[in-house]
Amino acid sequence: MTEGRRWMVDGRGRTSDTISPPPLTRRARRVCSNLAMFAVASTLLAACTQKPDAPPTPPVVTTEFDGEAALQYAAAQVAFGPRVPGSEAHRKAGDWIVAQMIQRGAVVTEQQWNHKTKSGRTLPLRNILARFNPQATERVLYLTHWDTRPTADEEMDPADQIKAIDGANDGASGVGLFVALADALQKKPSALGVDLLFVDGEDYGEFGPPLVDVLLGSTYFASHLPEPGYRPVFGVLFDMIGDADLRIPQEINSVQRAPEVVQRVWSKAAEMGRGNVFLAREGQAITDDHIPLLDVGLKVINVIDLDYGPGNSYHHTLQDTMDKLSAASLKIVGDVALALLR
Ligand SMILES: [Zn+2]
Repeated sequence: MTEGRRWMVDGRGRTSDTISPPPLTRRARRVCSNLAMFAVASTLLAACTQKPDAPPTPPVVTTEFDGEAALQYAAAQVAFGPRVPGSEAHRKAGDWIVAQMIQRGAVVTEQQWNHKTKSGRTLPLRNILARFNPQATERVLYLTHWDTRPTADEEMDPADQIKAIDGANDGASGVGLFVALADALQKKPSALGVDLLFVDGEDYGEFGPPLVDVLLGSTYFASHLPEPGYRPVFGVLFDMIGDADLRIPQEINSVQRAPEVVQRVWSKAAEMGRGNVFLAREGQAITDDHIPLLDVGLKVINVIDLDYGPGNSYHHTLQDTMDKLSAASLKIVGDVALALLR
């Protein structure tokens, strides 16, 4: 395994993501049509549309979440340039997030601190917490990282490896999702309290092991919770959820440490006819921003598609650009995220 990558394979290796049932054979179609002619019971007809052993796929259910808007908000983040902590683009992009959240009626607080890196640099970091329905005691925590990796270290050419990435999927997709969620919450508030947390410094350093200069914002938040006894009903980290080819298996740390939240999110997705994206199987164990929160007892899972591009070739490379994202993918994740708040 390459050192410096953010994930660890669980030893079982990766399996094919293809779960869609194969198309019906010509023979199967003919049997179905005969059944229709004789007006056989509707349950039999339904069975003909499915593989015999596959559970029925419910029809797709959508919400008012606007996937096109989410894509545009992601593009607005990318337009600032790489959001590397300490850069001008980072400062401006952070200010933009704060302004967007205030405009949509959130109560916004910031955590600002300096982090001394292993190499001795001082990084100015900020977490942005946008709270909807701040009085509600029953709360849901959604988080995403908004910083981008300073180097394209998965590039082949050493000259490219030192360049900063756009982070369209790895950074901007989660921000785009959250701004569009805020649109929906402003128009139709949730009875629950909703905390949208934008964490900084997720992707700055090395994932090792050991971890060096990564997961900085979530680690800071975990030790500086917004109030004593802060215990959201459940939490979800959204990371890399804009890929046009979106498939999200169940991340293993989430399954092991907050199975009830995985169950809640995946059953909602299945109910909404999105079992082809929220796959009912385990993926990899991934080191990400949910870990520091799980470590302090918050029930937070990771919704992530870490298979980005052919052979994951876009991850942490200069290929992580807006053209790899789709509004349809953001819409699917946004629909599920919003439905969980209703
Ligand atoms: Zn990353």
